[in-house]
Amino acid sequence: MSKADDEKWMRAAFEHAVAEKGTDPSDTPIAAILVLGDKEIARGVNHTAECCDATAHAEVVTLRAGGAAYGDMRIEGATLYSTLQPCGMCTFASIWAGVSRIVYGAGRDDVHEMYFEDRHLSTLDFVADAYKDDLTLEGGVLADECAQLYFRPWDDVPEDQQAND
Ligand SMILES: [Zn+2]
Repeated sequence: MSKADDEKWMRAAFEHAVAEKGTDPSDTPIAAILVLGDKEIARGVNHTAECCDATAHAEVVTLRAGGAAYGDMRIEGATLYSTLQPCGMCTFASIWAGVSRIVYGAGRDDVHEMYFEDRHLSTLDFVADAYKDDLTLEGGVLADECAQLYFRPWDDVPEDQQAND
């Protein structure tokens, strides 16, 4: 997958996030797209609030739809694009789904700490520590654009809007 392909799919994810959820950070416009070869398998957005489901992160929603569409829980060789660096849950879900690459837009340092559940552990460590040596995780594709959708590190976010409070 070339850099141009990565940017093309990340732009599609960004546009899907905006189309489904708008641009207000309070509405968590996070989107993911699962791609195999040059074909899209599935896409999804964060539905935690709408579905009262803490596991309905964009990446998990996309992996569920992807497995159903593909006919197998493991989608080896696939790339999961996400507009925001996947959390630990989504990173491990990707490991279980057997995807080969995770590519994200905005990274942990580009956004408010509320988006991550742990002060020290990094999803990079999760990947490094998993029994898996054929998964790569790359960030920073259209990072500035994607970061505009989220609370930034310097934003004063009300505590009741902070999921990891
Ligand atoms: Zn997640």
